Amino acid sequence: GKTIAIQNVEKKFETRTGVVQALSKVSLNIESSSFVSVVGPSGCGKSTLMNLLAGLDQPTGGTIEMDGSTMNGPQSGNAVVFQKDLLLEWRTVQGNILLPYELENRLNRKQLAEQKRKTNELLSMVGLDGFGDKYPFELSGGMKQRVSICRALIQNPSLLMMDEPFGALDALTREQMMYDLLKIYTKYKCTIIFITHSIEEAVFLSDRVIVMSPRPGSILKDISIQLERPRS
Ligand code: ADP
Ligand code: ADP
Repeated sequence: GKTIAIQNVEKKFETRTGVVQALSKVSLNIESSSFVSVVGPSGCGKSTLMNLLAGLDQPTGGTIEMDGSTMNGPQSGNAVVFQKDLLLEWRTVQGNILLPYELENRLNRKQLAEQKRKTNELLSMVGLDGFGDKYPFELSGGMKQRVSICRALIQNPSLLMMDEPFGALDALTREQMMYDLLKIYTKYKCTIIFITHSIEEAVFLSDRVIVMSPRPGSILKDISIQLERPRS
């Protein structure tokens, strides 16, 4: 997985009513293949931080390095999952999962077959065997979110960022998704940054919990979680 070095990052937004400072002096080093959760109240800058890490926006101060090089824009090897599944309704499950791949590569028949095989393997891992030909409207919310996780994983990301990925799901589905995500983490060994409102999810899933405080968003606590059994 990627290593991330965040140095004194600041983010200000100019709005009609003045300047909003979303982040101030955020410094954080994230080790390769660690699973880091970010928690904190609404408006503390979690999404802003993730947008910066995803390269969707630029800091107004400080630097972000990934694997030792300074970020400028979206980087290959990074994948993002949002609270909304953002699936295309007119594409099948398989078509949705292959989308990022198709956008980057012109696939020949052999590559397409290989990618379809990989899609089926991913679907099977999240308990959606045989769902490749279904359309999003035929799936429950949890299933759709599993599909969007598969769509992120087909790119073999070395950094997986998730912004409240289970936020729209019911409690039972959420619990199942936590186990799925641990399985994925064990298998893919990518670095994971997981934004959540749920301290329970954070503690259950991650090695480290970053707690942020608002106005302007900064790191309040940085908690390492001792694993009972190392996840080698
Ligand atoms: P969180 O994800 O923790 O709820 P956000 O990162 O969404 O917090 O927002 C942090 C602060 O920055 C909030 O006060 C929010 O209103 C403000 N903010 C976020 N994005 C923008 C934007 N594009 N323009 C102006 N203000 C913004
Ligand atoms: P979350 O709590 O998940 O961050 P928000 O509703 O705070 O969700 O933000 C959703 C999106 O709207 C974010 O991408 C953020 O950048 C943007 N946003 C948040 N606050 C503002 C704002 N005051 N002005 C413009 N955009 C904003």
